Amino acid sequence: MAGTAEPERQSSRVADRARAVIPGGVNSGQRCVPGLENLVVASTSGATFTDTTGRTFVDYHAAFGPPLLGHNDPDVNAAVTSALGRLDLCGVGVTAQEVELAETVAGLVPSVDKLLLTSTGSEATFHALRLARAVTGRRYIVKFQGCYHGWHDAVSLNVISRADAVGHKDPISAGILPEVIEATLVAEFNDVDGLTTLFDALGPDIAAVILEPIPHNVGALLPDQAFLRACRDLTSRHGSVLVFDEVITGFRHHLGGYQAISGVTPDLTTLGKSMANGLPVAALGGRADLMDQLSSRPGAPVFAAGTYNGHPAMVAAAAATIAKLQDEPVLAHVHALGDQVRAGLREVCADLDIPAVVTGYGSVFLTYFMDTPPRTYRDLLANDTELFIGYRNHLRDHLIFELPLNLKRNHLSYAHTESHVDQLIDATRQALTKALTNRPAVSASASTMGGIGSTP
Ligand code: PLP
Repeated sequence: MAGTAEPERQSSRVADRARAVIPGGVNSGQRCVPGLENLVVASTSGATFTDTTGRTFVDYHAAFGPPLLGHNDPDVNAAVTSALGRLDLCGVGVTAQEVELAETVAGLVPSVDKLLLTSTGSEATFHALRLARAVTGRRYIVKFQGCYHGWHDAVSLNVISRADAVGHKDPISAGILPEVIEATLVAEFNDVDGLTTLFDALGPDIAAVILEPIPHNVGALLPDQAFLRACRDLTSRHGSVLVFDEVITGFRHHLGGYQAISGVTPDLTTLGKSMANGLPVAALGGRADLMDQLSSRPGAPVFAAGTYNGHPAMVAAAAATIAKLQDEPVLAHVHALGDQVRAGLREVCADLDIPAVVTGYGSVFLTYFMDTPPRTYRDLLANDTELFIGYRNHLRDHLIFELPLNLKRNHLSYAHTESHVDQLIDATRQALTKALTNRPAVSASASTMGGIGSTP
């Protein structure tokens, strides 16, 4: 199309300039996606984003999850603007708005007596684990294969591992001290026996167990209730700290997080993403006796600080987001749309006779191309990666954006509508048909996992 050639040239010029001054041309791992190297985003609005060539996509990637209300929510934006008109960062004392936000979250999330704000989820999980080690005086952290908890060393391993790396330590980065890798034990999600064996062997040395209650960083491994209970029972019995990383599930699945749904209450909880609809605020919350060990309390031993913690604009964004989640039927809307999407996708896969597991929770959905619902990360090795990525690439021809990376989930927001969903189902039928038609007769990639990727 002659009309699009110039915008495309301009876009690729910006991308070239980006690569010259930003490593890889993007500011976070996994933003540079094969086939999308020249994507330059111009604007966002509601359920969509527009690139600099003028194409507007319905966005199901949603920046890995934060904009639960939709991009540029007017109420959140108004709250931010109003806060900035009155207040800037002081770096001393507290504001009334920080107090109100902490009171609100403590009233909503079962495990939270006290709350410390951070800017990112990684900081929150970092502080959770340092705190756990400090209060227990112990060495080991237990995480689960497939869970992602941020970029810091203690948790930078075993996210999306290749088949041959499962069961071994699989760091996602160079530059981590071997001693740090050694001090993180990796267990299999939903495997009560495996976790019990680990505690039988090393219980007195385990400081913390950290998990995503639904490991959404590999799509959606739905937790067995017995597994979540076992995490609680084993950590309680052995004096370890249980950390629920609810950076994705918090607020998105329930105002009280997944812990309010499961009835399993951890000692510490990390929150982020949907908490402020996309503005950078996250939090560590938990039992008062643990939280009071953080050095925001003078004389307490566990150092915790951050120049931007409690930034007034971010606090306003979080307060406005949570207020809207409380006042309007946001969660009912996105959960209903999620059910509609999953039903529609199941029908499409059945019609096309594709082995598929359409899954997710509430507003999160995705389709694994495999026979049996996965319970553990090992089960996910059966996903047909080529088809998973292939149809997502074809969806862009229909102006729909799902991240074309293996195992990545999709998100619905308050700004998505039933007609968006109808369009998605229709487009998925066509995109899958095309991906199946185009694929080589014998697919070599059905069980290759495509790298170490973690989410940003
Ligand atoms: N925990 C979970 C479950 C996440 O998905 C993420 C990011 O994707 C993090 C922690 C890290 O959060 P951030 O990227 O804000 O540092």
